[in-house]
Amino acid sequence: MDLAHERYEELERHILAANPGADVERIRAAFEYANNHHGPQLRKSGEPYIIHPIAVAEIINELDLDQDSIVSALLHDCIEDTDSTHDEIARLFGPQVAELVEGVTKLTRMQYTSREDEQMENLRKMFMAMAKDVRVILIKLCDRLHNMRTLQYQSDLKQKEKALETMEVYAPIAHRLGMQKLKWELEDLSLEYLDPVGYHDVQEELEKITALHAGFVDNMQAHIEERLAEEGVQCKVYGRLKHIYSIYRKMYSQGKTLNEIFDLYAFRVIVEDIPACYTVLGCVHDMFKPVLGRFKDYIGTPKPNGYQSLHTTVVGREGIPFEVQIRTWDMHQTAEYGVAAHWKYKQGMANQKLGTERDFEWVRKLLESQQDTDPDEFVRTLRVDMFSDEVFVFTPNGDVKSLPAGATPIDFAYSIHSAIGNSMTGARVNGRIVTFETPLKNGDIVEIITSKSARGPSRDWMKICKSNEARNKIRQWFKKERREENIATGRSMFESELKHAGLSLSAITANSDLLDLLLKRVRCGQLDELYAAIGYGGLSAQKAAARIKEEMTRLGRLERQRAEQEAIQAAVSTGETVYPSTPKDSILAPRRSSSGIIVSGLDNCMVKFSKCCTPVPGDPVVGFITKGYGVSIHRQDCPNADPARRKPEEEGRWVKVSWAETPDAAYRTSIEISAKDRDGLALDVAMALSAVKVKVNNLSARSQPDGYATINLELAVRDQKELKGVINKLSQIPGVFLVRRAGG
Ligand code: MN
Repeated sequence: MDLAHERYEELERHILAANPGADVERIRAAFEYANNHHGPQLRKSGEPYIIHPIAVAEIINELDLDQDSIVSALLHDCIEDTDSTHDEIARLFGPQVAELVEGVTKLTRMQYTSREDEQMENLRKMFMAMAKDVRVILIKLCDRLHNMRTLQYQSDLKQKEKALETMEVYAPIAHRLGMQKLKWELEDLSLEYLDPVGYHDVQEELEKITALHAGFVDNMQAHIEERLAEEGVQCKVYGRLKHIYSIYRKMYSQGKTLNEIFDLYAFRVIVEDIPACYTVLGCVHDMFKPVLGRFKDYIGTPKPNGYQSLHTTVVGREGIPFEVQIRTWDMHQTAEYGVAAHWKYKQGMANQKLGTERDFEWVRKLLESQQDTDPDEFVRTLRVDMFSDEVFVFTPNGDVKSLPAGATPIDFAYSIHSAIGNSMTGARVNGRIVTFETPLKNGDIVEIITSKSARGPSRDWMKICKSNEARNKIRQWFKKERREENIATGRSMFESELKHAGLSLSAITANSDLLDLLLKRVRCGQLDELYAAIGYGGLSAQKAAARIKEEMTRLGRLERQRAEQEAIQAAVSTGETVYPSTPKDSILAPRRSSSGIIVSGLDNCMVKFSKCCTPVPGDPVVGFITKGYGVSIHRQDCPNADPARRKPEEEGRWVKVSWAETPDAAYRTSIEISAKDRDGLALDVAMALSAVKVKVNNLSARSQPDGYATINLELAVRDQKELKGVINKLSQIPGVFLVRRAGG
């Protein structure tokens, strides 16, 4: 029998020993498949390649993972290193196995080396986020463990690279998953390559000291076992030296000597249940002198990764301090194997209290989700979905960027620098050109194509991007680069919001005192500034309009109060009686008015036509009795006369009015023309007005940078009929798309 088959038979014996019901046919088929595919490939050690997957499967078996994991371990390098495919593996060994092998392959293809410190956490997160199924991580960890165990065959450079990567990525992940045993071995193996001198120093020192303490561990172990047997406690006691890296770290980073390290030795007492843990603690403290401040109850307060034990440090008769860790068998399994322990011992996990620290939250969830499900179901539903709100991608230099889930190349570009985003003309993901909307996936390598002649971001980008960082930077760009455009778009957005609120832009801008007050209210020095702020998105048009409306209401109230005050003053000085309001339906008959308006119930009162809607004869109208200025006439469709907006306390001031049969000859009214701007537009308007022989009091035309123009006209007309004719005529001028009356 060849070496490969010899090793495989050994693996199969171990699998059957751990699980007599294992489906060895399927496992053997996986071995034969991998063996055929790797064929004559050799490892650096000179052994056949297949020895490596068999060794990984051995470690997986030691962790007692499920059968799919063992099969996947045997096949784990097939997709990467042979002509085997996902589909073929799915057909022969099922989709689960194919997914696991594919997952491991993805992690293998990633490069994790030589990163800055701040990048490491992102790398670890990406590693876990990419895996999706926690078994993929476990297989990858076992793969790395075997590679570290056989690292002596690699070149010096490769050794350092792999050791660093193991120390910074793999060992912390093992820790996060609560797999202490694996973590310790990875750390010691890495240290041996990263700092061989330091490693061997610690090793030598330890040998010297343990030579002095010859027999200490065995004696102490026997001593403790004896005492606990007397107390009738069922237990197992293990003694050991702490692993080298933990001692190394204390010596080098905390500057301690070996003699200052209290816990070179650690004893574990493993018992049946939690009450026994506290009984043992009592005995240990009775036998030895406890070191003050070293007792820790991780049963009452478990560590975030689920670790539970009682820890205490004591000093024996020989004066050697040592740590004692007391725990149940369940706790022991969790301590050694972490997440992997769930395939081993389902019982007893359900009632454990576990930590809630954010990083470990998902582990807790995994453990909780295990309740009430059978182990197979548990394995099937075990998805690693932490960090689902983040996506991790690489720059072409290999730096990792963390972006919000769903992020696009736009987010990526702006996360590097706003100049990159602003000059972006295209993007490549994993070497392929993609559209700007393409959502990025974990592990993608993203490259931004830029050009000096780029036209800058488009407004759509703000809708496409997912990060606030990108959105803010794009907004900044629009603020600076596109002032003219911002003013034009801002103005039209503002105007339509105002209209919504029942206000007209021209009414506001016509009164410069009012305008100044209003601009102050929105904290802008000039009208253009307000438009620009709305245009680039720094100020919402809706908010600005709401504030203006508030201010208008406030000013209106002040004005009325002032007028009323004046009227009272005037009345007092002349001795007249003041009537603050008049009933709107009077029994008195309507009378003729010199203004062409008949106000029911009021004889010959002062009438003025409101500026907001400039009514002309024929318009349905309504009157408002002002305090001191007579009756102001509004069109019934004027927003200021809208019954829904009238104040209840002023209800009595609204009066019925009607046009007299023979009104005055001319009424002033305002209209606004919107048109596509062109040469001669204002002239055409003036010609049209002259053709219909209407008197123009005022004409003002403003061009907008976006190619449109607004023309405001103040006319004198006889009535609505004449006005309609004028509007008709104006509407026929080429380029004019809207002619409307002000305030309507
Ligand atoms: Mn491998």
